[in-house]
Amino acid sequence: MKRIQGKGVCGAVTMGRLYFYRKDNDPISRKTVTDPEAEQQRFAKARQQAAKELEALHEKALREVGEIHAQIFEIHRMMLDDEDYCSSVSHIIDTQHVNAEYAVLRTSDTFSQMFETMTDEYMRARATDVVDISNRLIRCLKGDSDGRILSREPVILVAEDLTPSETVQLDKEKILAFLTLRGSENSHTAILARTMAIPAVVGLGKLDPEADGKTAIVDGFTGTVCIDPDEAAVAAYTRKKQEEEEKHRLWQSLRGKPNTTRDGRSIQLYANIGGLDDINAALQNDAGGIGLFRSEFLYLQNDHLPTEEEQFRAYREAAEKLAGKKVIIRTMDIGADKQTGYLKLPKEENPALGYRAIRICLTEPELFRTQLRALYRAGVYGDVSIMFPMITSPEELKRIREQIAIAQQELRTQEIPFREEMETGIMIETPAAAVISDILAPMVDFFSIGTNDLTQYTLAIDRQNPSLESFYQPHHEAVLRLIHQVIQNAHKAGIWAGICGELGADPTLTEQFLRMGVDELSVSPAQILPIRDKIRSMDLGS
Ligand code: PEP
Ligand code: MG
Repeated sequence: MKRIQGKGVCGAVTMGRLYFYRKDNDPISRKTVTDPEAEQQRFAKARQQAAKELEALHEKALREVGEIHAQIFEIHRMMLDDEDYCSSVSHIIDTQHVNAEYAVLRTSDTFSQMFETMTDEYMRARATDVVDISNRLIRCLKGDSDGRILSREPVILVAEDLTPSETVQLDKEKILAFLTLRGSENSHTAILARTMAIPAVVGLGKLDPEADGKTAIVDGFTGTVCIDPDEAAVAAYTRKKQEEEEKHRLWQSLRGKPNTTRDGRSIQLYANIGGLDDINAALQNDAGGIGLFRSEFLYLQNDHLPTEEEQFRAYREAAEKLAGKKVIIRTMDIGADKQTGYLKLPKEENPALGYRAIRICLTEPELFRTQLRALYRAGVYGDVSIMFPMITSPEELKRIREQIAIAQQELRTQEIPFREEMETGIMIETPAAAVISDILAPMVDFFSIGTNDLTQYTLAIDRQNPSLESFYQPHHEAVLRLIHQVIQNAHKAGIWAGICGELGADPTLTEQFLRMGVDELSVSPAQILPIRDKIRSMDLGS
């Protein structure tokens, strides 16, 4: 048995098989080999694996999108057997004594160029197919799973690191736990793991590649991972799992109960979600509403900018599923660690201080108004509120209002139904916004304090940088004072203030937040009932 230690970011325990997730961005290089026969065998094996993948894709497509759209995978599978293509790869390996990846790449270039020059449109279109199957073969040769989990059973996913966009695209059904060798507790990947209630451990440092496929126990509370666990470790795991289930049963009994302290102080407990998939968990855990819908994940899940219709459908579905409960949708907070290829954002020296969130929206008003129109249209179907991230000044709010007015006018002109009056609030997640919260409060309907970024910017600590974690003090007095000040300024202006950053779910601070007068806490779905339990056990003596 081997025990390794990282940082637990999502409290739960699980046992399963380790699965190494590889992403390989290396360009293919030409390597001279001494054993071409071994390369021929690698090529043959890669063809077999590619054929298996394509068969599985064909079956899945048949079930989900029907015969016509599934055909392409069948064509690709047949192309793998194409004699000309295969003998070209073999010939290059044999005559040039090179690696199979390079031979596939050269063949791909030759064949795709040949197809591209054909006059027949159908044959010209085959050029893309050649590139596609060649890429698949190269990936198989490299042992690269390309983000898909090629396992029937759910696994414990091991990755060097995961970006938020990779995380949202993973097949959640197949994941028992996340392990990352790098990564920080405050990253969005960690937040996503909490939102999905998947045990997760980050910052493990190193993990022997030999461990791939072995059984492991992951303790998301303590950050311990046991590989090849012995009997004692399995027995300890079983006990902990039982305790966990017992606690869950207890929390489930709090469904339908108010979030009220013993002396009668009540607050709202809402859920943070990353997308529609998390709504069921929010409802199962008896969320009073959605306090933070991170709409950017809709952008990260896609390979294109989501259209107004696509967004409208998603927001409408959220509003309808919440059936009259509040849904606070945050306009997209792309940038910093949340990157998407198609937006082609510039590379920056200091991305966390850079072109992100509302700054992108106000620089690209067309893109912003697409989202605003979708939101105002969805407002007809439920209690939708809009929230704007990364605000630093009243000028930004004025510019936002101008865009809202234009978006509404566009809808009016096109006679598309929308809700005229919608609650709008801002995230208080920059020290600037916190300090001038007295000026901002009369301009909005609510504040939601984003403690993740507020801490990052107040303490000048990059939340993505794991080597700074010993300096990351989430309970720093500066952050707590700012939170208190924001709540007071909100109340002076007659608006409500909540907390949607991860600190809102820290049970050691719940009492302090209630004493500060917080009106709402928005936490990941699995944390709602434990926080309710905490609130109900408290007596503020008021
Ligand atoms: C925050 O900064 O606290 C927050 C809730 O937003 P995000 O974590 O998505 O940046
Ligand atoms: Mg934030």
